[in-house]
Amino acid sequence: MSPRELLRYHRHLILPEIGKEGQEKLKQAKILVIGCGGLGNAMLPYLAAAGVGNIGILDFDKIDESNLQRQIMYGQSSIGKQKTEVMAERLKEINPFIKIDSFNTRLTSENALQIIQNYDIIADGTDNFPTRYLVNDACVLLKKVNVFASIYRFDLQLSVFNYRNGPCYRCLFPEPPAPGTVPSCAEAGVFGVLPGVAGTLQANEIIKIITLTGEPLNGKLFTIDLLSFHPVLLTIDKDPACPVCGENPTVKKLIDYEEFCNPKNNMKEITVTELKRRLDAGEAIQLLDVREPMEYQISNIGGLLIPLSSLNKHIDKIRKDVPVVIYCRSGKRSATAVRKLNDEFGFNNTANLKGGIIAWAQEIDPTLTVY
Ligand code: ZN
Repeated sequence: MSPRELLRYHRHLILPEIGKEGQEKLKQAKILVIGCGGLGNAMLPYLAAAGVGNIGILDFDKIDESNLQRQIMYGQSSIGKQKTEVMAERLKEINPFIKIDSFNTRLTSENALQIIQNYDIIADGTDNFPTRYLVNDACVLLKKVNVFASIYRFDLQLSVFNYRNGPCYRCLFPEPPAPGTVPSCAEAGVFGVLPGVAGTLQANEIIKIITLTGEPLNGKLFTIDLLSFHPVLLTIDKDPACPVCGENPTVKKLIDYEEFCNPKNNMKEITVTELKRRLDAGEAIQLLDVREPMEYQISNIGGLLIPLSSLNKHIDKIRKDVPVVIYCRSGKRSATAVRKLNDEFGFNNTANLKGGIIAWAQEIDPTLTVY
C-alpha cells in the first residue's frame, strides 16, 4: 500500500480486527454487486470507501426520477443516464485507488457464469425472483459466497448463502412464490431508508467475510421491521434435498428462471375429453399418476404410478419419445410434477391433465369412484 493509502485507511489500520493484514485482503478482494438499485446504492460507496480493490457493478437500467427517493448515489442530473455509468464515476470519486468494472447488461442464464466466475463474493442487490434464483444457482455452481438481502415495504431480510458449506437461498426457499402473489417494490412501495439499512448491512457482511472478522450470517437469516424495530435471527439449515446444493442435486446447470418463476406460461394442459379422444384414436401416450398408492387403488385411469414425492428417483421410467400426460386428483400435484420434469429434468413432452381424476369421473366415466 502506498503512503497515501496508509493515510486513507488509517482508521481501519488501527482496528485490531482489521489492521494492515485485513486492509491488504480488502485491496485484493474481488466483489460483484448485482443491481445498482437501492441496495447497491448503499453497499457500493461503503465497499469503495473501505478499499475493496476490485468491484464489479451490474445493472441494465437507466436512472428514473422515482429512483431518487432512495438511490442516493444519483442526483437530478443523473436522470436518464445508465446506472452503472453514474455509479462507476461516483465510486472512482470516492476512492481512486480501486478498480471498477461495469457490466451494463441484464444478468441472464447465458452470461451469469462468465461474469460471476471472476469474483470471490457476490452481493445480491436484485429486486425480483428470477434473478435471485439465477444468482443463487450460479453462486452454488461456481462455489461463490452469496451475500443476500431483500426488502419489502418496511421489512428487510439478510443472510449469507453458500459460505463454508452453509445453506443456499433454495435451502430456505426451494420454490418461488406463485406468480402474482408477492407484489414488487414498484407495486407495494418501499420506505426510502430501508434499502440503505439493508445495503450497508450487506457491505458489513462482505467486509467481515473478506477480513475473516466476526461471525458472518451463514446459516442464519436476520429480519427486521423498521417500524417496530423488532429483530429476529433465525437459524437455517442446509437442506440435504436441496435441488442445487443438496446431496443429489438435480440442477446442474443454469435453467430458464423466468419460466421457473412464472411456470404457468409454459405448462401444457390437456382436458379430459381431449385425452379420451386421443387415447381412443390409439395415440401412444404415457399416462403418469403422481398420487399415492392408496389413492391409485381406490380408483385410477391407468398408466404408471409414481407418487410426486418419489418422482426424482424414477425419472428413468418416464418417456421422452411420446407425449406424457400427468394426472392426480385435481390437477394440482400433477402441475407441480410437470414443472419439475420440465425445469429440472429437461422434459418438453409433458402435459397436465386439467381437473385430474375428478374431471375424468365427471365428464368421461361416472362409474369411477371419486373421493
Ligand atoms: Zn441449497
